[in-house]
Amino acid sequence: MVVVLLAGVLGYAQEQDFSKVQIKVTKVSGNIYMLQGAGGNIAASVGDDGIVIVDDQYAPLADKIAAALKGIGVTDKPVRFVINTHYHGDHTGGNLPFAAQGATVIAQDNVRKRLESGGKSGVGNGPNEAKENKPAPAGALPIITFDHDVTVHLNGEDIRALHFPAGHTDGDSIIFFPKANVVHMGDDYVRYGFPFIDVLAGGSAQGMIAACQKVIPQLPPDVKVIPGHGDLSNLDEMRDYVKMLQETTATVQKAIDSGKSVEQMKQAKILAPWDKYANKFITSDIFIDTLYNSLTNAKNASFVQHN
Ligand SMILES: [Zn+2]
Repeated sequence: MVVVLLAGVLGYAQEQDFSKVQIKVTKVSGNIYMLQGAGGNIAASVGDDGIVIVDDQYAPLADKIAAALKGIGVTDKPVRFVINTHYHGDHTGGNLPFAAQGATVIAQDNVRKRLESGGKSGVGNGPNEAKENKPAPAGALPIITFDHDVTVHLNGEDIRALHFPAGHTDGDSIIFFPKANVVHMGDDYVRYGFPFIDVLAGGSAQGMIAACQKVIPQLPPDVKVIPGHGDLSNLDEMRDYVKMLQETTATVQKAIDSGKSVEQMKQAKILAPWDKYANKFITSDIFIDTLYNSLTNAKNASFVQHN
């Protein structure tokens, strides 16, 4: 189970049997669909101009994903653009096969850098300290990269990817479909409980909170929210998640201020009031590690200000 959760969240493809994975398609709004299989949720704009997908799960699922998109029955045209919300393998694993079939992959500058170089991901200490990522093959790298934002004009929609720094990673984008009134949050918002924050790849709890707080007031109250992982959501559920992030972050900050060590925080079970968010992948102890490392990693502080 731990392996499966790790696979789902961190992108370990090798341990997983993809032959049994089925792709579930949910119509979200207008011509926007959500696809769930294994790994991060996919958003798809499916229309007369062709298909744009946000994230692409794992390479072995690419044929099933393409078949599911065709099965929607709107177009026989292929995937023209893939937008990656961040570099993790459970969101970018399909880049290579989709690019090979003619799609152009778009992502924030740091996504390409991290895919190209490989390197460590993880919360920085404790049982989930780090995982080594191999460099991605050249054909899997985003062809178009951007610093702050980019807009893809297709299917009558202005699909906008906006970068938020130092959240789940240092290369996150949140993707807006203003006409259809849909947003894909990437892994700045997930529904499996305490989130994995890739502190070793420039992520921080403060940046994750800042991104959500920046986005929520700008969205219409009835916007459909596609989380990075988990079922279709809404702003009320996202506000609960942000509240949990704020309260747990404040709790760990208070413990830091009073001179407590990470081990003392774990022994005192300072996150017990939020136990329902603990999961097999991110336990309360691992989330204490995450928050402690986020808060004491001074280099993040300057990134959080940027919009
Ligand atoms: Zn991720």
